[in-house]
Amino acid sequence: MEKTFLIKPMLDEIYPVIDYGKGVYLFDRNGKKYLDAASGAVTANIGHGVAEIVEAMMEQAKKVSFVYRSQFTSEAAEKLAAKIAEWTPGELNWCFFVNSGSEATETAMKMAIQHWQERGNQTKTKILSRWVSYHGITMGALSMSGHPSRRARFIPLLEDFPAINPPYCYRCPYNLEAPSCNYLCAKELETAIKRIGPDQIAAFIAEPVIGAAGGAISPPKDYFKQIKMICEEYDILFIADEVMTGFGRTGTMLACEQWGVVPDIVALGKGMGAGYAPIAAAVASEKVMEPILAGSKSVMSGHTLSANPQSCAVSLAVLEYLEKNDIMKEVDNKGVYLKYQLEKLKPQFNFIGDIRGKGLLLGIEFVADPITKQPFPRKLSVTQKIIEHAKDKGLLIYPAGSGIDGVNGDAVIISPPLTITKREIEELVFLLKGTFTVFSDEINTGMDG
Ligand code: PMP
Repeated sequence: MEKTFLIKPMLDEIYPVIDYGKGVYLFDRNGKKYLDAASGAVTANIGHGVAEIVEAMMEQAKKVSFVYRSQFTSEAAEKLAAKIAEWTPGELNWCFFVNSGSEATETAMKMAIQHWQERGNQTKTKILSRWVSYHGITMGALSMSGHPSRRARFIPLLEDFPAINPPYCYRCPYNLEAPSCNYLCAKELETAIKRIGPDQIAAFIAEPVIGAAGGAISPPKDYFKQIKMICEEYDILFIADEVMTGFGRTGTMLACEQWGVVPDIVALGKGMGAGYAPIAAAVASEKVMEPILAGSKSVMSGHTLSANPQSCAVSLAVLEYLEKNDIMKEVDNKGVYLKYQLEKLKPQFNFIGDIRGKGLLLGIEFVADPITKQPFPRKLSVTQKIIEHAKDKGLLIYPAGSGIDGVNGDAVIISPPLTITKREIEELVFLLKGTFTVFSDEINTGMDG
């Protein structure tokens, strides 16, 4: 029997086979065109089929495709590290290259623990995180993730890391509004640190804009300033998981820059290779690396393909492309325009609960009742239905939400390539309106659970 990646009969029936991509569009082998308003998985940040990225990869491949990280480095890796240090704020000067976002957050976690060990603090090993979060699928990263449905099967194998409430203003656990709420959700960090003991905690990890678990939940203005202050007061490192938000997604290299906050360690991924090659990184500050360099001299982590020259050449070409075409500068304007167009859909479809996000990382949460914010029952699989209707119409959007009943069950992320034009934004919203009309008809005729 012929073997393929998927079981043979599933091909084409479940996943269309993509033939090629160009700009914000993908084309399947039946000639159907899709507007990729998800950038795949918030990854294809500069769009599909950019020739100069492919050329950069080929040029590197002609020189050397692989060197092993404990024997050699490469010009591509060195240049990329220098460029990231230049583009990131503060003293985030040390890059450890890996292959996926999960590896990046795991490496960040290990760097934090190692930092304290080298300073003689053997007990600082816990990583605090938040509910409604996603930091990756490997066991360490999943241990830090407040994503109930992804954790469920593996709970006995996960580390018991404590989590606090997220800055989820649409469903504020205190029923308050920012800024008069006094940022009680940030203050929860202090309460948790005091309860557990600062001598037990290595770091606090958070996504600047909550992605897969919540659907582009952006915090109120001073939230991260408060978080950083608390971390500093209690000697806890702050890890920003910028796997989804980094590399310009919100209009700045790091989303943390939007609030003037410099993390101690940053996890990068997704947009770093923009889908052209697997690459991710944990980027650490001088402060974090000092005791490590003075002690063991290197970070106790690594993968065979860490700092792969081809992937590094791709990421460098992506950064140069962003720089040369001044792409980040336009992200905020494009995001504002897209949000404005999405807001116009709200009065037409009463299942739109909340529209939120930052830059070109926007989210829509769906509710059964917009007044009470009652979520749809899980068994109706609302997100999945909306995503499928969108795909039928030739529009790709990204699923989000906790995946459990009674919480933030249903949301999507709208995150087109940063290169999207005004006309393409209008086309996106037109296709989304068509999608919502189909879903609305489905609700009115009674949905199957
Ligand atoms: N962190 C965040 C914020 C993410 O969005 C993701 C992926 N959705 C990850 C980590 C994990 O990245 P990967 O899938 O590349 O392992």
